[in-house]
Amino acid sequence: MIRDFEYFAPKTLKEALTLLDNYRDECKVIAGGQSLLILMRQGLVTPEYLIDIKGISELNYIKSDAKEGLRIGALTTHRAIEKSPMMRNGFTVLAEMERRLASIQTRNWGTIGGNLCHADPAGDPAPVLMALNATVRMASPKGERTMTVEDFSLDYFETALEPDELLTEIQVPVVLPHTGTAYTKFNVIESDLATVGVAVSVTLDSNDGICHDVRIALGASAPTPIRAKQAEEVLRGKKITDNLLTEAGQIASTEAEPVSDIYASEEYRRELVKVLVKRVGKEALAKAKQA
Ligand SMILES: Cc1cc2nc3c(=O)[nH]c(=O)nc-3n(C[C@H](O)[C@H](O)[C@H](O)COP(=O)(O)OP(=O)(O)OC[C@H]3O[C@@H](n4cnc5c(N)ncnc54)[C@H](O)[C@@H]3O)c2cc1C
Repeated sequence: MIRDFEYFAPKTLKEALTLLDNYRDECKVIAGGQSLLILMRQGLVTPEYLIDIKGISELNYIKSDAKEGLRIGALTTHRAIEKSPMMRNGFTVLAEMERRLASIQTRNWGTIGGNLCHADPAGDPAPVLMALNATVRMASPKGERTMTVEDFSLDYFETALEPDELLTEIQVPVVLPHTGTAYTKFNVIESDLATVGVAVSVTLDSNDGICHDVRIALGASAPTPIRAKQAEEVLRGKKITDNLLTEAGQIASTEAEPVSDIYASEEYRRELVKVLVKRVGKEALAKAKQA
């Protein structure tokens, strides 16, 4: 049963930040509630004050700019991203990822900001955003700051957000020409969290097809989503072949720090990383060749 709490529904960011500053450790922010309400029902989170930010329309938008790339307000729903015509020019992977996140009902109400702030290591958006080199913007009464999505997750269900901060925006830079990005997750139950998720972004040199840059991000493979940087080094500066992708997958599986749980053993997860890095790397390469 959910314990009683006092409820606030601010309509502006400024109002929400003032409430957050006033109640700090005694309050909890709620956006779509798709993750938080489960914890509240289980009695794991028992706030005195609940600050419902879902109605703050200034944080609900998707903007696309040829110079700055994509800017997504923290309160944008998964469904809005999935359906947005702005998910093109290298950003289609975001819509593809969202299509496999939870059910339509959850996607209709859950927000991308809430997903990142919940910081479940098995969440789908973070690895994809890391492959796209995205950053997050945060606001507090003191001002604003930005950091990479990679730095935002600190540990299991823990982020770099200070008690008086809100996540306000996700920024995805313009995708370079000849870049392909792909994502897949292995899960036992369709529309559920990843047993392992892998995102790969490959940028090719336009003249000789050599791998100019590559980013490999793993989900559900460590306490936070992580980059497999040693695996990236296997591919960077080379012409990507099947053999190199196999090697990258093997190295990524040693970089992962997975746990054993009811869904999969540690060994099984490492095997998934190995297989999926190769598979998703191949898909990203094919996309890069056509881009
Ligand atoms: C049945 C089911 C299936 C799911 N399947 C998947 C899946 O396949 N893949 C996946 O990735 N996720 C999945 N999820 C998780 C879920 O979809 C997301 O975590 C959800 O979208 C979180 O967004 P929300 O707006 O509902 O956040 P909330 O539940 O409202 O909040 C989550 C946390 O973030 C904090 N918070 C929210 N917004 C902000 C903000 N702007 N600034 C600061 N703090 C904030 C809250 O205080 C809370 O701690 C599933 C959930 C359910 C119920």
